[in-house]
Amino acid sequence: MTGSTPAPFTADDYRARMDRAARAAADAGLAGLLVAPGPDLVWLTGYAPPAATERLTLLVLAPGRAPVLVVPTLEAPDAAKAAGASALSLRDWTDGKDPYAATAALLDVDGRFGISDNAWAMHLLGLQRALPGTTYASLTDALPMLRAVKDEAELKLMAAAGAAADATFEEIRKVPFAGRRESEVGADLADLLRRFGHSQVDFTIVASGPNGANPHHEVGDRVIEHGDMVVLDFGGLKDGYGSDTSRTVHVGEPTEEERRVHDLVREAQEAGFRAVRPGVACQEVDRAARAVIEDAGYGEYFIHRTGHGIGVTTHEPPYMIEGELQPLVPGMCFSVEPGVYLPDRFGVRIEDIVTVTEHGGRRLNDTDREMVIVD
Ligand code: ZN
Ligand code: ZN
Ligand code: ZN
Repeated sequence: MTGSTPAPFTADDYRARMDRAARAAADAGLAGLLVAPGPDLVWLTGYAPPAATERLTLLVLAPGRAPVLVVPTLEAPDAAKAAGASALSLRDWTDGKDPYAATAALLDVDGRFGISDNAWAMHLLGLQRALPGTTYASLTDALPMLRAVKDEAELKLMAAAGAAADATFEEIRKVPFAGRRESEVGADLADLLRRFGHSQVDFTIVASGPNGANPHHEVGDRVIEHGDMVVLDFGGLKDGYGSDTSRTVHVGEPTEEERRVHDLVREAQEAGFRAVRPGVACQEVDRAARAVIEDAGYGEYFIHRTGHGIGVTTHEPPYMIEGELQPLVPGMCFSVEPGVYLPDRFGVRIEDIVTVTEHGGRRLNDTDREMVIVD
């Protein structure tokens, strides 16, 4: 994966994003933004170098100035092919030269700069040596909502990623579960996500029986048995935008209690979804889902936040969590994923990606939320 993302964005789109980011930086009291290879750089420029390396690549955005991408000379031809390349200028540096001095020449103001969370420490230390008068802040902490509101083209890509995840669920529910290892079903999930267009698989959780009570369990060697609840949670990137959905299936007929807990989580997920509308604080989505589970006496078993944002990554702000007062804005996309985890027994989680519209929420996942019985 080098060069530009396959997303249908033009240089004008990237110019507008860079302008918006520079303005947001100024509003946040920052002298500018220093963006390392990763999701912010992809979103701002369309440029996705193979990986961050010891050679400095850094987008310098400052209010009132043209954006500059500092890039190693040997990678400059690739950078010049990025969809947003004509909206910025390249400043290349050759091996043996000091890239921090080159960057410092662009940052001739002292001040506080937002820097990508995933920038390498060696690059930040190099900048600190070259620019002793500057200070740095986490770009994500300073501008958590930078990528949160999606435009129409982004929403189409999010919906397509969601549809591909849904197609994956429709196929996985047909495969045999009993007698196979979690890791085998997980491999099926990854194959299906790719078959339905994902270029990157971020996670394929298959948590059967007691493993389902651990929300961090991914896949293991456990052989799935008749009678197991199985939490499935899978997603990745399709055409540069993320999917993430969970359904909990049961191998054969469930017990009355398993059905009751599944119904409870489904009601909680529905309540969280119904709380979504413009102007509502993120924490209200968490509260709405949590209240259903608490009222049923299972509050202590819902041990994580209700949701997270999603876009060019599969986990990002805004978070649906108590204390998050950020109001929902049309175009935001995030998960609504309550769960109940009964230690050593089983777990249930149901997750959809939801986008905010003028009138409320719209689900980007829409497979059966009733408990699906598998073989
Ligand atoms: Zn069971
Ligand atoms: Zn998930
Ligand atoms: Zn999620």
